[in-house]
Amino acid sequence: MKVVIVGGGMVGMTLAHLLRRRGLEPTIIERMPAGFYQPRGYMLGFQGYESLQEVGVYDEVRDAGRPIAPREGQPPIAVAVRFGALIEALQRDLPMENELTVKELITDEIGRVTGVVAEPTPEEVLRGAAGPTSAAGSLQTAVPGTVKGDRPAGEIRFEADLVVACDGVRSPIRDMAGLSAEIDPLPEAALSFYSPKQADTSFAMAYMSDGGHIGMLSWYEGSAGWRSCARVGAEAALDVTVDQIKEMWTRLLPESASAVEGVTSMDQVRYSEPALLRCPEWWKPGIVLIGDAAHFFGPETGVSSGIGLGDAHALAEAIRQNPNDADAACHMYQTWREPVVRPYEATDPGRQRILVSGQVEPRPEERWPPED
Ligand SMILES: Cc1cc2nc3c(=O)[nH]c(=O)nc-3n(C[C@H](O)[C@H](O)[C@H](O)COP(=O)(O)OP(=O)(O)OC[C@H]3O[C@@H](n4cnc5c(N)ncnc54)[C@H](O)[C@@H]3O)c2cc1C
Repeated sequence: MKVVIVGGGMVGMTLAHLLRRRGLEPTIIERMPAGFYQPRGYMLGFQGYESLQEVGVYDEVRDAGRPIAPREGQPPIAVAVRFGALIEALQRDLPMENELTVKELITDEIGRVTGVVAEPTPEEVLRGAAGPTSAAGSLQTAVPGTVKGDRPAGEIRFEADLVVACDGVRSPIRDMAGLSAEIDPLPEAALSFYSPKQADTSFAMAYMSDGGHIGMLSWYEGSAGWRSCARVGAEAALDVTVDQIKEMWTRLLPESASAVEGVTSMDQVRYSEPALLRCPEWWKPGIVLIGDAAHFFGPETGVSSGIGLGDAHALAEAIRQNPNDADAACHMYQTWREPVVRPYEATDPGRQRILVSGQVEPRPEERWPPED
C-alpha cells in the first residue's frame, strides 16, 4: 500500500517508523525544516509507551526524563522529559520530505482521495521558524532553506492509496477532506510558564475552589507550569509583573517554587484559550485522521500525545492486516480505536467542568488576574 503521511510531528514520525517495521515505505511530507520542533513542557503518558517501545526509542526517552508516580517493579505512570529528547529520537534515521506544504488533495471521479499536491513552504514561514525562543517555544535546531537535492521546483504530486493526516490540531487536511470537527472552547483560559530551572519534584497539581486547576511539570533541563484562569484576554492576564507570577505560583502550589524561580521575563509566560476537539468520523475513502488532527484533550489530562502514539500503532497494524485494502484498514482502525479514544473524549475533566462552571466563585486569593 502506498501511504502518504502529511505532518512529520511526533505522531506522523511514529507511524512512519511502525510502517517501515512492517515492510512499507511511507512518504512523510513536513512543511517545516529538518530538525524543527517547538519546545514545550511535556509529559509522556503510559498510553504512548507501547508504540515507542516498538519503534525502539522508549528506553532512551524514559532514561532522559524524570518518572511521574514511579511504581516498584513497573513503569511509571508518565515521564516528564525534554520534548526534544523524544522528537530527536524519532527524527533519527527517518527519511522525510521537509519544507513542503500540502495545499490540496487529489480525488478521483467518485470522490476518493488518491493523493496530495504539495509545494515548497513559503520563505516567510521558514524564516518564522528560525525566530527567537519565546515562552510559546520556537527554538529550533534547523536551518531554513536547506537545499533539497534534486527536488523539482513548483508543485509536486504524491499519489497514494491512503493519505494519513497527522497535521496537528488545526489540520488543514481535515478541512480539505471535508471531515468535520467539533471544537468546544473550555470555559476557562490557561496561564502557563516555561522555566530553565528544575523543581524538586517531577509533577505537582492542585484544584482550586471553583474546580480550576494549577500544576507544574519538571524534567531534568527545565520546568513548565500552568493554571486555569478567567477568560479575560492576554492583555489583562499578562498585565502583571514577574514577581506577581512567582508569588502566585509559589503560594498556590509550593512544589513549584524552585521552578518558577527561573521565570525572569514575562516572555516566559503565556496566556491561551484552549479548546477540546473531537471528530465524529476519522476517515473517508482514501484518507484517515490520527493524532491531534483527530482529537485534542484538555490541558490537565496530559494524554493527547499518548493517545496519538496509540493511534499510530493501531493504524500501522490495521494496514499490515489489510495490505491491499485501505478502506478495510481504516474500518478496522476505527473499530479498534473508538473504544479507546471516545471514553477519554467523553470524560475530559474540562468538559465536566462546563456543567459546574459559574456555580462556584474562585476564592479572592485564587483569582487571576489578581485584584488591585
Ligand atoms: C504547550 C503544549 C504542551 C503540551 N503538553 C503535553 C503533555 O504534557 N503531554 C501530552 O501528551 N501532550 C501534550 N501536548 C500535546 C502534544 O504536544 C501533541 O498531542 C502532540 O505533539 C501531537 O502530535 P501530532 O504529530 O499529532 O501533531 P503536531 O505535533 O502538531 O504535528 C503536526 C505536523 O504537521 C505539520 N503540518 C501541518 N500542516 C501541514 C501541511 N499542510 N503540510 C505539511 N505539513 C504540515 C506541522 O508542521 C507539524 O510538524 C502539549 C501541547 C502543547 C502545545
